[in-house]
Amino acid sequence: MTKKTNYTAQEVIALCLTYMNSEHVKFVNKAYQYAEQAHNGQMRKSGEEYIVHPIQVAGILAEINMDPVTVSAGFLHDVVEDTEHTYEDIKEEFSEEVADLVEGVSKLGKFRFTSKREHQAENHRKMLLAMAQDVRVILVKLADRLHNMRTLKFHKPAKQRDIATETLEIYAPLADRLGMSRIKWELEDLSLRYTNPQQFYRIVHLMDSRREDREQYIEDSIGAINTAIDELDIEAEITGRPKHIYSIYRKMKTQKKKFEEIYDLLAIRVLVDSIKDCYAVLGAIHTQWKPMPGRFKDYIAMPKANMYQSLHTTVLGPNATPLEVQIRTHQMHEIAEYGVAAHWAYKEGVTTKVQSDELGDQLSWFRDIIELQSESNDAYEFMDSIKQDIFTDNVYVFTPGGDVMELPDGASTLDFAYHVHSEVGDRSTGAKVNGKIVPLNYKLKTGDIVEIITSSSSAGPSRDWLNFVNTSKARNKIRRYFKVQELDEAVEDGKKIVAELIREQDFEPSDYMTEEIMDEHANEYNYKDSESLYAAIGFNEVRPMTVVNKLTEAARRKRAKEEDSLSNTIARTAEKQPEKEKVTIHHEDGVVVEDAENLLLRLSKCCNPVPGDDIVGYITRGRGISVHRRDCPNVAKEDDLQNRLIEVEWENKNTDKIYDTDLEVYGFDRSGLLNDILEVVNGLTNRLSNVNGRVDNDQMATIRLSIGIRNTEELDNIIDKVSQVPDVYSIKRIII
Ligand code: MN
Repeated sequence: MTKKTNYTAQEVIALCLTYMNSEHVKFVNKAYQYAEQAHNGQMRKSGEEYIVHPIQVAGILAEINMDPVTVSAGFLHDVVEDTEHTYEDIKEEFSEEVADLVEGVSKLGKFRFTSKREHQAENHRKMLLAMAQDVRVILVKLADRLHNMRTLKFHKPAKQRDIATETLEIYAPLADRLGMSRIKWELEDLSLRYTNPQQFYRIVHLMDSRREDREQYIEDSIGAINTAIDELDIEAEITGRPKHIYSIYRKMKTQKKKFEEIYDLLAIRVLVDSIKDCYAVLGAIHTQWKPMPGRFKDYIAMPKANMYQSLHTTVLGPNATPLEVQIRTHQMHEIAEYGVAAHWAYKEGVTTKVQSDELGDQLSWFRDIIELQSESNDAYEFMDSIKQDIFTDNVYVFTPGGDVMELPDGASTLDFAYHVHSEVGDRSTGAKVNGKIVPLNYKLKTGDIVEIITSSSSAGPSRDWLNFVNTSKARNKIRRYFKVQELDEAVEDGKKIVAELIREQDFEPSDYMTEEIMDEHANEYNYKDSESLYAAIGFNEVRPMTVVNKLTEAARRKRAKEEDSLSNTIARTAEKQPEKEKVTIHHEDGVVVEDAENLLLRLSKCCNPVPGDDIVGYITRGRGISVHRRDCPNVAKEDDLQNRLIEVEWENKNTDKIYDTDLEVYGFDRSGLLNDILEVVNGLTNRLSNVNGRVDNDQMATIRLSIGIRNTEELDNIIDKVSQVPDVYSIKRIII
């Protein structure tokens, strides 16, 4: 196989003739004719006619003996994208297969797989594989990229760097993945020229400057190896090859070595017919020169993931210079250079390709893999490892910003939204895929450009969303949303319940439900704060009564003590145990209570007792002792209430304190009666505060007087004098 960079169409056809039958060559030639016409009049940046590009792409594919469909697709690969001809046209004129390949390549061409973010490269590669569906799409794309890289000098520098970076990140690793080291090397070297021209040209210069030495060294080495294996009687093809520039660059960079320190600038390659011969050659070489420790690798026994097989060793060769030797069979070499393409190579009378009789004419990548299961283990593993990449269970979609997102197969736009951010998910109302509005349950396809429509007034997730999300991330976030909502409700419920119970105990909720108090209590129940405690009550995880009882414990104890002292007093009064030590309360109104503590005393407003009156104390519920006249009708008629009475007495009836009392005068409403009464009262006291009266139909008058007095003596005197006023029939104290 030769590497040619400027094929004519005739040369490509001639190349096809070396491995295809005439009918297939005719098919390929027709593809060329079609493309030539379609691109007629178009020019490349280089100034050449456009058709030159597809001719080179087809040439690269023919070099690796690809089948007629693939080579035809090479000629036609830009027709759908760049001319008026459609998928249908290609399908009609050639076949669905050719049309699919062309469309696949066009699809890949629409995306720029460069990203500032490093981790995206792996995703981009996977996505590209997933989009390709047929591995031959990638082969055409790689050929396309290879020729574009060869002619990259016609682009502007910024674009050169972009394309070269994309090539390094995406296409070279893909070529490597497919075992196509030849294409990989060339892509890498061409890329380095644009991504790091300084280093590229420096390495080229250094290699050039040692060319003569190196060539001499290779010649010497080949001679020495020939001598070493001479007596083995093995037919071996020995070649020397310089390492490619990018691999030297990478070694200098990753191992931080100077150019001079990279001793394996060249490797000697020994190709033999059988595996047995490989090991025989290895033995002879190790006998002749000392192998360097850690440098021997047996990729024959343990092939690389891309099915690469070879023996690698580095020995201290002639002149004690390190010499790397690779030993493999011709068959292994084919795979080493062309990888998957070696399997795909079309077979028609050419014998150098591996197992291609069985494989070469397979048209579907998938069928190929199925059939490979009956092939050698190595082959199966190789295909299997690629299959995992291609038939991935993931879809790869773009954000509007061009980032790639990897989602499991079956993911919906809503999954995507939650993948971006949970807030985006919670607020999403719809989505646009490839510019068209779609519902949230739209199933994403690889290559979709997805834009989520959100609204800040969105009502938030609905429960049926759980039915069409397919990622655990989205599902968890929706569930958490509802959990948070329920939590809010539970907290409110908890607060209500606690407040109600506190009120039932006759306490004021706001005295207890401060954040400080509740946080403290929450800790006692092992909740982190009051919110969590309320929530636990709302969710019925904690008995609210327990919490409230604890909250009001101290207050209830205090109250119980008060009630205790009351009941004790009541009990003692009932039992009339005078020998008990007496405690006396002196009230500011001049009332004395004995044997009572901490009790509030007040004079009742109904009978208005004044010093001198026979009085009694009445123990009220929670309001202390109310003092009444003993004859007050409001005091204790029922027996059980009698237990609440307590003996009280006036401390000193001759105080200066003034007590209010009400009198009612009844008499004949003659003219001047009220004046006469007021004259008498005012003569006895200046503390008349209120007077009002009424006259009934019988001309009888009822006059009420409110008077301040010191004691019953003063009062009796007033009553006596008023009752002597003519036409006054009666006068009495009022009990309301
Ligand atoms: Mn192209």
